[in-house]
Amino acid sequence: MTPEGQPDAMEGRVLERSGRLRLTTTREALSTLLSEATRGQWTYLEFVDQLTRREAEAKQDKRVRMGMTIAHFPTVRTLEGFDFAAQPSVDERLVRELAPGNFVAHGTNGLLFGAPGLGKTHLAIGLGRRLVELGHSVVFTTATGLLTVLSRAESEGRLEEKLINYVKPRRLIVDELGYLPFERRAAHLFFQLVNRRYERGSMMITTNQRVNDWGTMFGDEVLATAILDRLLHHSETLMIKGESYRLREKRKSGLFRSLDEAAARASGHGQSEESRPAVGRSKTVDK
Ligand code: ADP
Ligand code: MG
Repeated sequence: MTPEGQPDAMEGRVLERSGRLRLTTTREALSTLLSEATRGQWTYLEFVDQLTRREAEAKQDKRVRMGMTIAHFPTVRTLEGFDFAAQPSVDERLVRELAPGNFVAHGTNGLLFGAPGLGKTHLAIGLGRRLVELGHSVVFTTATGLLTVLSRAESEGRLEEKLINYVKPRRLIVDELGYLPFERRAAHLFFQLVNRRYERGSMMITTNQRVNDWGTMFGDEVLATAILDRLLHHSETLMIKGESYRLREKRKSGLFRSLDEAAARASGHGQSEESRPAVGRSKTVDK
């Protein structure tokens, strides 16, 4: 017997200290692990190894869960779930290079260009989730959501307070830039944000607007150049081309063949490819 008393009392003290030290898993698993250790005749080191491993894994799980909540990803999309074979214009090697934390550590930005349905949001979320798993802070927002929050904050005199929420995270994902044109004030707010993050934190931007059209998108060529200048300085760019993944999947399932045929019947003519209304081929269908 140790001078410190009975095993039960000792276990009680360990539980109490574990609670104070926020070693939640140690608290929960101690008694089971003690029995397992006795049965398996573990060495002291094996016991400590098991106990600390469980505590560390539980803490990591909790960190990742909290990180995902803070990130506000709109859907669950993963890099593993991205079909690179279906999208040959996406450089798989580059995407894999963008995944590890060293990319964000240097504040490098990522820009994903392409028409709707090509997997931009999917890749932005997949890369964002990977960063959260690696312990980095990530926040996802749409451009519209971002500017709504910032414009309101500015009119309430709380811009600084709100801006900081978008400046602090290691990676800020701004999805769907350019789907709606910018008001003059909103364009300035966006510039302020980009400027504050410049060389500090990484931004990942998805957009359907080519760089040449950013002047029109922001309603100001000089401002657009200033924004692009900062975004592109340390950046990786992915241009995604091809056909909408959603349309491809539907076409494969045969839905579009029947829609094509129905359209041809409705038009009363158009047996040939050219004269048939291009229901399944039109880009505007994906709206
Ligand atoms: P975008 O943001 O470019 O408009 P999304 O990322 O929203 O496109 O993609 C549209 C849908 O198609 C999503 O459900 C996405 O998960 C899926 N998708 C797109 N490309 C791929 C791909 N290469 N592999 C798997 N799913 C894809
Ligand atoms: Mg998208």
